[in-house]
Amino acid sequence: MSNETLANLAHEDRRFEPPKELAEHANVTAAAYDEADADPEAFWAKAAERISWDTKWDRVLDWDNPPFAKWFVGGKLNAAYNCVDRHVEAGNGDRVAFHWVGEPADDTRDITYAQLKDQVSQAANTLIELGVKTGDRVAIYMPMIPETVVAMLACARLGAPHTVVFGGFSSSALRDRIQDCDAHVVITSDGGYRRGAPAALKPAVDEAVAQCPGVEHVLVVRRTGEDVTWDDQRDVWWHDTVEKASTDHTPEAFDAEHPLYVMYTSGTTGKPKGILHTTGGYLVGTSWTHWAVFDLKPETDVYWTAADIGWVTGHSYIVYGPLANGATSVMYEGTPDTPHKGRWWEIVAKYKVTTLYCAPTAIRTFMKWGRDIPAEHDLSSLRLLGSVGEPINPEAYIWYRDQIGGGKTPVMDTWWQTETGMHMISPLPGVTAGKPGSAMKAIPGVSVDVVDDDGESVGNGNGGYLVVTKPWPAMLRTIWGDDERFKETYWERYAAKGYYFAGDGAKLDDDGDIWVLGRVDDVMNVSGHRLSTTEIESALVSHPKVAEAAVVGATDEQSGQAINAFVILRESALKGGEEAPDALITELRNHVASEIGAIAKPKSILVVPELPKTRSGKIMRRLLRDVAEHRDVGDVTTLADSSVMDQIQEGVGKGS
Ligand code: ATP
Ligand code: MG
Repeated sequence: MSNETLANLAHEDRRFEPPKELAEHANVTAAAYDEADADPEAFWAKAAERISWDTKWDRVLDWDNPPFAKWFVGGKLNAAYNCVDRHVEAGNGDRVAFHWVGEPADDTRDITYAQLKDQVSQAANTLIELGVKTGDRVAIYMPMIPETVVAMLACARLGAPHTVVFGGFSSSALRDRIQDCDAHVVITSDGGYRRGAPAALKPAVDEAVAQCPGVEHVLVVRRTGEDVTWDDQRDVWWHDTVEKASTDHTPEAFDAEHPLYVMYTSGTTGKPKGILHTTGGYLVGTSWTHWAVFDLKPETDVYWTAADIGWVTGHSYIVYGPLANGATSVMYEGTPDTPHKGRWWEIVAKYKVTTLYCAPTAIRTFMKWGRDIPAEHDLSSLRLLGSVGEPINPEAYIWYRDQIGGGKTPVMDTWWQTETGMHMISPLPGVTAGKPGSAMKAIPGVSVDVVDDDGESVGNGNGGYLVVTKPWPAMLRTIWGDDERFKETYWERYAAKGYYFAGDGAKLDDDGDIWVLGRVDDVMNVSGHRLSTTEIESALVSHPKVAEAAVVGATDEQSGQAINAFVILRESALKGGEEAPDALITELRNHVASEIGAIAKPKSILVVPELPKTRSGKIMRRLLRDVAEHRDVGDVTTLADSSVMDQIQEGVGKGS
């Protein structure tokens, strides 16, 4: 990536020092960096002491056969015991694990650690009855209800790796995942609530399972009470089994490298990959980062990851990290605008949420709706904010900090992936002076670099490819059933150096801080200049009338690739249904030119009502590229809302 094109982002010179009070009492201080640099394995061994082991490991890291890592070799533990039982044993059984908020008004449940322990034990006993044995895979296709967490932990308790599939995915996406990991039991519900109405899940399971002869049982939670078709041989109700089962279950200790779960990536760049995570290193990595990056104080904090459990963020920072730390969390079932656009802020005020973690796409949506909506609620309990999933544009960062955080909350921009399992690059709240738009630097114990094609460090002030240079505890162990694809995808490119290739572009600024520029696949080449989509999108979003933007390069005879932009306007900028005037398009093109340079001026800008996004809020640029290049759009099975593509194509058809 060329440097002149990155000038815009790097010219961001706002800095936010940690609040004094937070820094004074922070869980982690600057000393952690030195400690970890001096001896990363000793650093992680110390972090591992935060976890309860049945048998202590005798070797921290086995990297004798790269890229196949083993962490905490010889150690034995049970993940569910760590997330639940040990807190009850420590006298914290009455602490709330989840303030669960259903989408329908007043549909709430508080679940304590003691209750969670009973429910997880009951579910584990039921799974045993259904024939689940250690090592068997179990598919989970659920809405955001407490039973989803219970189901995951019950699997973990038995050493039966779960694979959670987004409730929003189609039956064919579910079928593919069940088949790929050969699950024999599926846990689901009749449905969940979405946008004010019941959304069925069981029919999709029936359809998927019809093509999965290996599935012996489907365990069904009753959530909506809607009619379902029933197979007496195969289907069992949760309330007839789990809720009647014994609450006694003794967890068995498994090897630190025992598989914990398989999670499929969101498929923004291609066919989803089944990422395998194992037990010991994953729990150490997620619990340490959750405690360090969010400065978690389990007695006083109310923590909320506003994301779906069917995404890795939900696995690491709704389930395993927070529960291993004995945190009190909020879990919300529905969409942010049901029944009104202030729903999240109502929840923050009601539960006095201290820490909110969400995706930039959500923040940009709130920006679009306007600051008046959060302003109606008391958000003063918030002390820390987090962002994940995509680069957060400086404008969105500032808005988040000011309008949601009252101008006082640090913003943790956390870079990581399904594959990394845990935060890798992030500020630390008591240490880092944050820069809007930069994820800053690797967390203690993690080593990353920005390198060129040959794997050489590009050095400060330059752009290149983001790599991880040393193994880390929560790293993926392989792609399920496909060691070759694992090696090829992540390790072959820098095999000589032994680096993990993340697939993202990044830049080091003059201070050595990291600016993630998005996927390598999304980098454009315009008349010989390498341009990052992220930077042009940030320039567009910095215009007061733009809420969100997606940029793609489409093949162009003249320039090699032409920049095509798709923008969503802020609600205050356009009255409903109004067409964007040509003057505004010109204004936006000129705005990009003045922010970055004439070379970055989009050839076309299309105003759209929505952008194609995954359920985890990532923009699927490959679909927009298909539109811009007049191709049939590719695989849309992991889109949150597939009608979005029709709307966009209609807009293109109109030639606006
Ligand atoms: P696929 O690999 O199938 O395309 P995916 O990469 O979208 O799926 P995830 O593992 O959820 O699935 O996403 C990880 C990616 O998200 C990172 O590689 C990066 O591009 C982006 N990302 C996550 N957090 C950040 C962040 N804080 N800043 C910039 N980019 C981020
Ligand atoms: Mg990826």
